[in-house]
Amino acid sequence: MRTTDAQRQRVFAAVRPDRLLGMAQRLIAIPSRTGEAKAVLDCLAEVLSDEGFAVERPDGGYPAAPAVAVRFQGKNTGRTLQFNGHLDTVHLPFVPPRVEGDLLRGSGSSDMKAGTIAAVEAMLALRDADALETGAILLTAHDLHETPWGDGRQLNAMIQAGYVGDAVLLPEYLNHVLPVIGRGGFTWKVTIERTGQPIHEVMRPAEPNVIAVGAQLVASLLALNDQLAHKRDPLAGSESLFVGQIHSGEIFNQYPKTCRLEGTRRWLPGTKHADADAQFRALIDETARATGTTISAELCLMRDAFLLDQPHPFVACFQGAYQTLSGKSLPIGAKPFCDDGNSFWALANVPAITHGPNAGGAHTLNEWVSISDLIRVAKVYALTAMEFC
Ligand SMILES: [Zn+2]
Repeated sequence: MRTTDAQRQRVFAAVRPDRLLGMAQRLIAIPSRTGEAKAVLDCLAEVLSDEGFAVERPDGGYPAAPAVAVRFQGKNTGRTLQFNGHLDTVHLPFVPPRVEGDLLRGSGSSDMKAGTIAAVEAMLALRDADALETGAILLTAHDLHETPWGDGRQLNAMIQAGYVGDAVLLPEYLNHVLPVIGRGGFTWKVTIERTGQPIHEVMRPAEPNVIAVGAQLVASLLALNDQLAHKRDPLAGSESLFVGQIHSGEIFNQYPKTCRLEGTRRWLPGTKHADADAQFRALIDETARATGTTISAELCLMRDAFLLDQPHPFVACFQGAYQTLSGKSLPIGAKPFCDDGNSFWALANVPAITHGPNAGGAHTLNEWVSISDLIRVAKVYALTAMEFC
């Protein structure tokens, strides 16, 4: 390791649990559903400017909730490590912050306000301990993460505008593996339609049965899934086409006008998003032509696929920091979800590691995060920066 034991102890001692918990509670107390995160981003900007940082507010094409960006410069030039978090939460009823023993609860405690604050605390500790010899920290926080209300657009625009480091840490709630691969995916919605209006089945016109067309389409989509299953990664699993919903008809003897289906398509690194998109649309168009129906398809990109360049020096710096705090190295594994790390790899080819606190209940009303583990994460982030930058 580049750092001495004394340097490490000094920065660990500069991590302040009271400050970390106070900041996390402030952010969780502000409702911030995806698309509506302005107030919480304003609050983070105020916290950082009160701490003496020059805060930038790039809007990333979404002026309704400008993002937050702060740079902390070390003593000499070097590499930049980015800490990136989203402060929007899924659209569920608001739960205020509450501390119960070691657990901090409330909306966004797990996903991912508290993790973002652990990254902020890491930056404050580096500053207070005067511990960053070279390089810099770039801290970014934003809205529009959670699908389907958001699609990562704001962060993508920020990456394209240059708000990107030489490597990125993302404090999402994943810490049992070092994720080196992740599938990309889109959600799809399809509507099959015949021309006439709904009518009693005994009066039905010579028009296609949209339920039968729906069944035919399901069969074709499942056949595509079988074909995709051959593209397989030992860690991330197979490519897939999943059908999650089918709806048609109002009562037993009415000839319906529409049939709607929804699902997902997931792919591995190496498959292009545009190709997955075109393959799906071709199947839909072929079914429409063959059945004399109109079929519209709405595809919504979650994120492109993700791959970590494992020999990159950043990976060893992170593993070393993790090992210092935990006494063991982190096994490699897959990232089960799409997150902002996928965008950093797909758009900027920058190595990105998702690593956050012990936390649970993401996308439910029962979110929680371990306070003691937030402190560990702050230390891992600070030490990774000292090793990498
Ligand atoms: Zn998240």
